[in-house]
Amino acid sequence: MIETVGIIGAGTMGNGIAQICAAAGLNVTMVDISDAAVQRGLKTVGSSLERLVSKEKMTAADRDATLARITATTDKSKLAACDLVIEAATENEELKVKILRDLCAGLKPSALVATNTSSISITRLAASTDRPDRFIGMHFFNPVPVMALLELIRGLQTSDDTVAKAEAFAKRVGKVAITAKNSPGFAVNRILCPMINEAIFALQEGIATAEEIDAGMKLGCNHPIGPLALADLIGLDTMLSVMEVFYTGFNDPKYRPAPLLKEMVDAGHLGRKTGQGFYSYSK
Ligand code: NAD
Repeated sequence: MIETVGIIGAGTMGNGIAQICAAAGLNVTMVDISDAAVQRGLKTVGSSLERLVSKEKMTAADRDATLARITATTDKSKLAACDLVIEAATENEELKVKILRDLCAGLKPSALVATNTSSISITRLAASTDRPDRFIGMHFFNPVPVMALLELIRGLQTSDDTVAKAEAFAKRVGKVAITAKNSPGFAVNRILCPMINEAIFALQEGIATAEEIDAGMKLGCNHPIGPLALADLIGLDTMLSVMEVFYTGFNDPKYRPAPLLKEMVDAGHLGRKTGQGFYSYSK
């Protein structure tokens, strides 16, 4: 049974994961490299819970109890008692390998270790631990307290018991789990990103305008946001690097990034974060 959860990284994803675990009654230890990062993460959880209280989705007493279950620290030795540790640090393979290597020696032998990576091979990351059978990908979606899905990814050596425990954990924290094999983009991004790339091809070929493509997918397919607006939200540089991972990972031309995507990135038009992508955000 998972009762105590450790989270490495108190950023966008880490603090969201901490929030849902604590709200589900689990004890949480959230670790980051600096006091500032730890405090920022804790503050984000506090304001997110505050919003739930103001919308009457949570009582003030439950907010206080949830916050009281989170220990935020820079001291990794506090993870020793955890039943599950979820690595949610910066997306960098070298960094994640180092974190996982250092982490395992200080954990209970029975503890599960998970990573929230969106692109790095689970089998490769598992190999940097002393427990590849008790290692799994737990791919949460942003914003974690809102998005219902938890994508579980099996590495080559992930055991059935680990998958079963991860599924029970997903249920406990209120998420619906799907299980995917270890492969570039896992299941969701494998489907989502080529669809967005195809929308960029359609725009480039003059099939329709950006507004028409997005309206088409919203009104015709019931997508909540059009693919080009979503690309702007994700960041066109991120989109390009994901497509390049697919292209080289599968060695298949069907995943080639749209030339227009490359052009946009070369021009520094990265989407919302730079104020210009397929749409303009200058106002
Ligand atoms: P982020 O930059 O918001 O947060 C990363 C945090 O990790 C930072 O606070 C940083 O200080 C911390 N960190 C770096 N090195 C550390 C170390 N050695 N020990 C402890 N903490 C350390 O990034 P994020 O968006 O939260 O992404 C985290 C992970 O989640 C990445 O692997 C990313 O690919 C994945 N992910 C992100 C999203 C998303 O939409 N942002 C969605 C799904 C998965």
